[in-house]
Amino acid sequence: MAVFEQDLKLESRLVQCGVGRDKTTGAISFPIYPSATFRHPGVGETTGFDYTRTGNPTRQVLEETLADLEGGERGLVFASGMAALSTLFLKFDSGDHLIVSRDLYGGTYRVLEQIFARLGVTASYVDSTDLAAVAAAIEPRSRALLVETPGNPLLGVADLEGLGALCRAHGLLYVVDNTFLTPLLQRPLAFGADVVVYSATKYLGGHNDLCAGALIARAPALGDELFFLQNSTGAILPPQDCWLLLRSLKTLALRLGRHEANALPVARWLDGHRRVEQVYYPGLPQHPGHQLSRRQAQGFGGMLSFRVDAPETARRTLKRLRLISFAESLGGVESLMTLPAVQTHADIPEARRLELGICDRLLRLSVGIEALEDIIADLAQALEG
Ligand SMILES: *Cc1c(COP(=O)(O)O)cnc(C)c1O
Repeated sequence: MAVFEQDLKLESRLVQCGVGRDKTTGAISFPIYPSATFRHPGVGETTGFDYTRTGNPTRQVLEETLADLEGGERGLVFASGMAALSTLFLKFDSGDHLIVSRDLYGGTYRVLEQIFARLGVTASYVDSTDLAAVAAAIEPRSRALLVETPGNPLLGVADLEGLGALCRAHGLLYVVDNTFLTPLLQRPLAFGADVVVYSATKYLGGHNDLCAGALIARAPALGDELFFLQNSTGAILPPQDCWLLLRSLKTLALRLGRHEANALPVARWLDGHRRVEQVYYPGLPQHPGHQLSRRQAQGFGGMLSFRVDAPETARRTLKRLRLISFAESLGGVESLMTLPAVQTHADIPEARRLELGICDRLLRLSVGIEALEDIIADLAQALEG
């Protein structure tokens, strides 16, 4: 999808999103069109816009921007990441089977197990860092593979190219949730993905002030099908929020650079702390996905998890944090820490959670863009208390 005539780098495309698109006024910041409906010039004639659920000028600029950044044919934005995923899942019929990463956002697990399973769409959860395990989970009725990489909350790294080959060989729709890395750091369509999913609430939005989601389809036919589902079921992103997300995208490269620049030293610091047993960050050389990550991604992102020595240490740390907030979510400029077993992943049954390693000693940290010294000082005082 050619939004720019020049061959610009992603950083420039981000900054320039929406610029030059408002032909009537030349506004640099593309305007918000809070109009539910649009006047028709005559019968059978349209300005290109009829009704906002179907299409809105602000949303169109955002959707085209996201498709352009990802290298896809069509972008669609939704009221949340879960709205985007749920709309995608509506593509499947009763009897269809999905293969899904087990190191997965808890809400995705919940919607599949508690809603789509009831409608006859079932899922198997596999270790997607293990190609053989994914291959072994394929059944005759399997229709799609949904991968999150790096995984949540354990940051496992899946082989995007290997999984792409597997999907092609078995005719599976290949879906990648790229929320943790964004198109700046990881480009799933280049590895054969058919659809990229985002919770734009996270890095794309980046300020903890917006809830949004996106789907980007590689091929036109799939884009049309997803648009049909979006327009029919209506979980669209409102124009005001589309504008805020466009505004946020302009600084994505700067923000992400700083998140990453902070995350590696924080991971190293935690790794040397006497109360920390293990640190999960793909940027650490000892991380099992480190080499793969170097090959397939342009960076390691700003998310890490760590296991402390006792449940009491985890609880006390959360209580004592001052700069870092104990809160769900991730990818915003403010550092946030959470206890996945109790918060983000509470809907995963305990036995499965423990099997995965999501225990009450595991903390997840979304490293913000504050001064590195301040983040480390807060961790130091909270862990030592
Ligand atoms: C947060 C998140 C989601 C869900 O998105 P919402 O915007 O909260 O609905 C899906 N996938 C991942 C990886 C997430 O982190």
